[in-house]
Amino acid sequence: MGMWLVLVLFCISRADFTVLPMGVMGGVDDSDLSGYAVASTSLPGHYVMCDAGTLFAGISKVLSSHTASLVLGGVDDELQFLRENIHAYLISHAHLDHVAGLAINSVDDSKKPIIALNSTLQNIANHIFNWQVWPDFGPKGLGTYDYWEVSSYIPISIPSTPLTVLGFPVYHSYPYLSTTFLICDEEENCVLYFGDLGPDSIENKKVLSQNGNNTDLARQVWTKVAPKVLEKRLHAIFMESSYADGVADDKLFGHLTPKWLMEELRALSEEILKLDPTATGALQNINVVVTHVKPVARENIREKVKEQLAAQNIFGINFIFPEQGNAFLVGSHTYSPYPTSPSLSWWVITLIAFVSLLFLTTLVFAYLLYRRQNKQQVVDYYDE
Ligand SMILES: [Zn+2]
Ligand SMILES: [Zn+2]
Repeated sequence: MGMWLVLVLFCISRADFTVLPMGVMGGVDDSDLSGYAVASTSLPGHYVMCDAGTLFAGISKVLSSHTASLVLGGVDDELQFLRENIHAYLISHAHLDHVAGLAINSVDDSKKPIIALNSTLQNIANHIFNWQVWPDFGPKGLGTYDYWEVSSYIPISIPSTPLTVLGFPVYHSYPYLSTTFLICDEEENCVLYFGDLGPDSIENKKVLSQNGNNTDLARQVWTKVAPKVLEKRLHAIFMESSYADGVADDKLFGHLTPKWLMEELRALSEEILKLDPTATGALQNINVVVTHVKPVARENIREKVKEQLAAQNIFGINFIFPEQGNAFLVGSHTYSPYPTSPSLSWWVITLIAFVSLLFLTTLVFAYLLYRRQNKQQVVDYYDE
C-alpha cells in the first residue's frame, strides 16, 4: 500500500528530489548535526550527502520511520546504505559539525569522492585525515576518498546519479569561507544548499577593512539562480538560521537569524526583478528548508525562529523545518512529507475497523436471511 501511496504522491506533486535529513541542528546533540541526503526521483536510492555532521544516527532514524525499500532503495542496514547508496559528499566547510559523521564512518565507507572547495579539501586533508587526528582515508593514504575540487562554472557529475553540482564560495566568518552547492538533475531542475552563512553586509565590512575589496558573495549565488527561479526550476533552498533575532551583529560569528535570512531572500528577489520587473510574486511558495538552528543553553529555539520567519514572510515563502529521519519530497513549488511506515496504533485501528465491518456485514446478512425465512413461512401458511 505504501508503494501506491508514493506513486500517487509522485503523480500529484511531480516531485523531482527526495531529501533525507540525517541531522538538522547546528549544535549540542552530536547525533543530530547538519547532513542531508539528496536524490533525484528519476533514480531513487542514489544519494549525494550535503554535509555529513551526522550519518549513522540519521540513517537509523530514516530506517525506523520509513519503508526502507522505498526511501533507501531496498536497503535495511545502516552500513549497507552508507556504502551502496551514498555516492559522494558535498562538504560546505570543514567545521566539525559538518564533517564529524564523515570522519567517524570513514572506516566502514566505500570508495567515493569528497567534493568541495580547494580550501575545504586542504583543511580535511591537513587537519582530519592526517594520521594524527584520524587515519588518512584520502587519496594519498588509504584511498577511500578522492578529493574533487568544485568550481562555480564547470559542473561536476556526481557518480552513479543523474546529478551535477556547482560550488560557490560564500562568507562564513571572514576570512573563513563556506560553500553553496547548486545541485541539478538532467532536466536542469535544481536544489540550492547553503552550508553555514554569514550575512554579506556584515562580513563585507570585515573584508573592506582588511583589503579594501568589497564583494557580495551570496549575491553572486542569487544572480546565478535568479533565472532558475523565474523558470520555476529551483525546487528548494537550504538556508541556515542559527539563532533567533535579537543576537547582536558582532555576536553572529558568521551565521544568520530570521532577519538576516530574509535579507538574503530580499537580495534574491532584487536579482529576479532585474531580469523581470513584473515578477513580484516569483518567490511565492518557493521551498526554503531552514537548517542549523543552534539550541541555546539546551533550549530549542526552533519555535522562536519559526514564529519570527512567519512574521517576516513578505514573499509567501514555504518555510520547511526538517526533522531528523523524516524524508520529504520537493518539486516545482511543491512539498510533501514522504509517507511513513504505519505505526502500531495504525494497525490496531485498522484491525478494529475491519472486525467492526465484518460484524456489521454479518448482522445485516443475518437480518436479511431472517426476513426472507419469515416471508417464506407466511407464504407457506397461506398456501396451506
Ligand atoms: Zn561553521
Ligand atoms: Zn555549522
